Amino acid sequence: MLLTPEVKQLCEEIRRFIRQEVDPRSRWIEENDSIPPELVAMAREMGLFGLTIPEEYGGVGLDLAGKCAVEEEFGHTNYGFATLIGNHTGISTAGIVALGNEAQKRKYLPRMASGEWIGAFALTEPQAGSDPAALRASAVKRGGRWVLNGEKIYITNAGAAQVFTVMAVTDRAQGIKGISAFIVERGFPGFSIGRNELKMGMHGSSTAPLAFTDCEVPEENLLGPEGMGYMQALKTLTAGRVTLSARCLGMMDKLIEKCIDYAKVREQGGRHIADYQGIQWMLADMAVARDASRLMVYRAIDTLTRGERGTLEASTAKLFATEALARVVDCAVQIHGGMGYMREAGIETMYRDARITRIYEGTSEIQRNIIARELLKEN
Ligand SMILES: Cc1cc2nc3c(=O)[nH]c(=O)nc-3n(C[C@H](O)[C@H](O)[C@H](O)COP(=O)(O)OP(=O)(O)OC[C@H]3O[C@@H](n4cnc5c(N)ncnc54)[C@H](O)[C@@H]3O)c2cc1C
Repeated sequence: MLLTPEVKQLCEEIRRFIRQEVDPRSRWIEENDSIPPELVAMAREMGLFGLTIPEEYGGVGLDLAGKCAVEEEFGHTNYGFATLIGNHTGISTAGIVALGNEAQKRKYLPRMASGEWIGAFALTEPQAGSDPAALRASAVKRGGRWVLNGEKIYITNAGAAQVFTVMAVTDRAQGIKGISAFIVERGFPGFSIGRNELKMGMHGSSTAPLAFTDCEVPEENLLGPEGMGYMQALKTLTAGRVTLSARCLGMMDKLIEKCIDYAKVREQGGRHIADYQGIQWMLADMAVARDASRLMVYRAIDTLTRGERGTLEASTAKLFATEALARVVDCAVQIHGGMGYMREAGIETMYRDARITRIYEGTSEIQRNIIARELLKEN
């Protein structure tokens, strides 16, 4: 993919930062399930929280191709840290950038670009996961304010966030056209954030439930026109699926590199294991899965950049790249043998982290549903 010299330089800086600052702290993040404050401070200093926020609001203004290039870099390092930055610069700020009015952008984006305020995106509810149209959280206009009631679960960045984009039903009779988006700040009366969940992987990334009990949201915090929340969420998730797939590419690159290095030094039966055809074929399959994923991700970027809907391309890329990653990380454990099962090799962490990519931003089954729906509509 053609990247501007500026994006290439940014990627090099991020690569250096990852090698020098993030990777050495990765084990600590994994064991403490939190991100060291000094690492967040360095990320702020580097402008990482503003990567996708337009320059006029203090950000770097990366387009989708630039954001994906950066995500590929982040695929090489700690998944929890990559999630903090990736979620904030993706689904958690995209709504304000796309739908915010000038006053909202001026109020929120500069502080989100600097990383002073971290964002979160709140759609999922206990009974509304794969089917977000089943949302129950409601917002009613009362005395110049919106009053929100309901709950959200599994919200990434919740423990660290100051600004939440929250989807709630404003007109139940309108179905999905009655769902609106709101900007809710930590500290608004009636808004509470629950305890961080303990997860299989993604350690360091906060995931927590939210509760709204007669939560008062100023009238001006309605994001975009009333009834546009669901549509905007879908658009946000379409781009999010592509950027997540780009991170999977970086993860596959890293796993393949690690396997090649290991296979060239590990000896069994008097030969390097790289000399065995069984290992070579696994490496070949891993590279094919990675390269095919890359083509699909780049096609999705190209489609969306041309201003087309890109729903089919984004779901195809997400389904393929996340399932490819599952096969690649499984082969990586196999190639490392017993060492692949040990923490010190770093593969078992990636094995657990990779598992989430087939669940969030739409499960593999939901991507198949979307792809089939688009095919049947097209033909
Ligand atoms: C770590 C983590 C972080 C997350 N971060 C966020 C976040 O920041 N913001 C947010 O809003 N959400 C977030 N989520 C929620 C995530 O998007 C949902 O978990 C996901 O969409 C699946 O919903 P569910 O968990 O309710 O599973 P369910 O919808 O209950 O699915 C259970 C199973 O049924 C299958 N299934 C459901 N419907 C169909 C169907 N129609 N056809 C075929 N199969 C179907 C699913 O594929 C799955 O296999 C996060 C989740 C996790 C685990």
